[in-house]
Amino acid sequence: MKYLIIADIHSNLEAFEAVLEDAQRHGGFGHTWCLGDVVGYGPDPLACIKLLRQLDPVCVSGNHDQAAVGKIDIGDFNSDAAIANRWTAGQLSDEDREFLLGLPDLVVKDNFTIVHGSPRQPVWEYIAHSFTAADNFRCFDTRFCIVGHTHVPFLFKHDGVEVREGILHDGDMLVLGDNRLIINPGGVGQPRDRDPRASYAIFDAEEMVLHNYRVTYDVAATQEKMEKAGLPDFLVSRIAWGV
Ligand code: ZN
Repeated sequence: MKYLIIADIHSNLEAFEAVLEDAQRHGGFGHTWCLGDVVGYGPDPLACIKLLRQLDPVCVSGNHDQAAVGKIDIGDFNSDAAIANRWTAGQLSDEDREFLLGLPDLVVKDNFTIVHGSPRQPVWEYIAHSFTAADNFRCFDTRFCIVGHTHVPFLFKHDGVEVREGILHDGDMLVLGDNRLIINPGGVGQPRDRDPRASYAIFDAEEMVLHNYRVTYDVAATQEKMEKAGLPDFLVSRIAWGV
């Protein structure tokens, strides 16, 4: 069985659709694991929720998902994120709100712990450094943990003694063996590693390998919608830079 692993869609429909098409080119998938932040920042929250729900995913909750339904305080966001989140909240139907409110913070599936931020603090903590990863390896019992939130495709490997870190590149194939891993598939809708292409992963459970992929999408189309919605200029620009 193959699993599509996606994080931080952030209401970017063009990026999300490009990922689904690209995943088909790479052999398709039977299940979807979504690591949260379905909404926030981008112009298409409703269409992204609808498309995601069609995939019948396992999906955990991100900080933007929770802020959009009033579960956490928007005061913790920077001003652009807060403006976009208020706009998002105003778009949601009752059904969308119910879907976002129903998302769990953490899910365990087979060998995987699935969270948005970290197993220690599922909604808020960023795992961007090996010392944060080292602390977090003590906070889950499965062999692997998959996270989003930083929007950067990354890998932390615990070999029993120490934690090593590495960047995941387009086309990288990771063999999932005995070592414990924390894996971030990167962001679909707002990548932040200076590569604007949407990032995602496919996990093949029979072969026990995970592939990371990048795919270009129509950034200009998303930007045009963002401008029309009156979303902040920096949020419009950043998706073209990948920051
Ligand atoms: Zn995010």
